[in-house]
Amino acid sequence: MRIAIIGAGLNGLACAIMLKRFGLECTVFERGQGPRDSGTGIYVWPQAMQVLRFVLKNRDFLGRGQPIEFLDTHDKQGRLIHSQPVRPEGLGIPAPAMMFLRTELFRLLAASLEEGDIRYGMGCERLEDLGDQVRVTFGNGQVADFDLLIGADGVSSTVRSFVDPSMIPYDTGLVASRGVVAFRSPLLHADRCQIFTSTHSRVVTYPLNEATSLRYWFAAYQHRNQPLLDRAGLLELFAPLPEELLRMIGVTEEKDILTHKLKALTGEGHWFRGRVVMLGDSIHAMLPTLGYGLTLGLENGFMLAQALVGHCDNSLESALRRYELRAAQRSRDMLKVMRDMTDLYYFEREGEVSKARLTPIVQRFHHLAQSTVF
Ligand SMILES: Cc1cc2nc3c(=O)[nH]c(=O)nc-3n(C[C@H](O)[C@H](O)[C@H](O)COP(=O)(O)OP(=O)(O)OC[C@H]3O[C@@H](n4cnc5c(N)ncnc54)[C@H](O)[C@@H]3O)c2cc1C
Repeated sequence: MRIAIIGAGLNGLACAIMLKRFGLECTVFERGQGPRDSGTGIYVWPQAMQVLRFVLKNRDFLGRGQPIEFLDTHDKQGRLIHSQPVRPEGLGIPAPAMMFLRTELFRLLAASLEEGDIRYGMGCERLEDLGDQVRVTFGNGQVADFDLLIGADGVSSTVRSFVDPSMIPYDTGLVASRGVVAFRSPLLHADRCQIFTSTHSRVVTYPLNEATSLRYWFAAYQHRNQPLLDRAGLLELFAPLPEELLRMIGVTEEKDILTHKLKALTGEGHWFRGRVVMLGDSIHAMLPTLGYGLTLGLENGFMLAQALVGHCDNSLESALRRYELRAAQRSRDMLKVMRDMTDLYYFEREGEVSKARLTPIVQRFHHLAQSTVF
């Protein structure tokens, strides 16, 4: 079977390795001219750590990240409101959650592929259903036919408009600024993600490398159709938060701060059409309120690979339907959990973030997270 994956993001790369590990040949086509060499941090839940353990073959990658065992929510003054263990007792989760530099994960995944597996400068522009094949026209004029095409081309996906043009990302009303900086403070701990809530906004921070004191922070707020804030604007908005957090943002170089509006999808609609199927942010871009977007994409990539190697009735459609059945509803439910948690943090009346309000949402999250591919 000739398989094309559109997009060399983390999901496209991981999916290519999974397919190859299952004995299926594939090529990744990326619009960009080369590998990604910038980015900030990314939180990987234990569910995805197990997928990565399979994909990367050994445990060496565990040494490249920082384990995170708790997600703590604080109020404006820095007082602890709620502490959520990443691996609740009794669930027997056999992997830690970890924080990685995105570039590190890209490097690890790309190193598991061979030269020629990824083709850069190949933006997918048009798809055509030929019945027994799908035809791709690339931006450079090249045309190629495949038995299966996987759209892992992110939230602004071109492939999605072929599969289901009715699926359009919505503006979540939020902006996120992200930064990486060497910073230490007694307020900030080595084994946990710390969330500091403010008025319709929050600052979240994780250690990236405790040994080098590298730290990732993430600040999100409602944009209200106003211009996006620079560093000085963030310091003003978050002035009520503990001084140490402001110092952390203040010492981050402006060039190392990445800011953009957050878009998301509901996951509703068709996940495949004919020989074309969707994966990752292209189909379920979600609010990063619990940092689950990549984890969900890796879980779904694993399900897709399983469906493709496991079907015995010689019909690609039945394999893709099986993938959609296993992945779509769970993803929609997870998107809904993320929206509810987002509403609580960013859109409800001030003071609503409490242990009593967070606990039921966190329980729904853990219930869904438990039904993972491992
Ligand atoms: C602020 C923020 C913080 C986040 N934090 C976390 C976190 O801590 N943990 C977590 O799990 N998730 C997090 N996420 C979500 C996570 O980043 C995404 O879920 C994940 O990176 C999606 O990967 P992807 O490969 O599906 O898509 P992308 O990373 O968007 O990759 C898509 C690729 O396709 C390429 N492409 C696009 N169009 C075409 C085309 N027509 N032809 C060829 N190539 C094309 C692009 O160049 C790109 O390389 C966060 C998201 C945001 C916005």
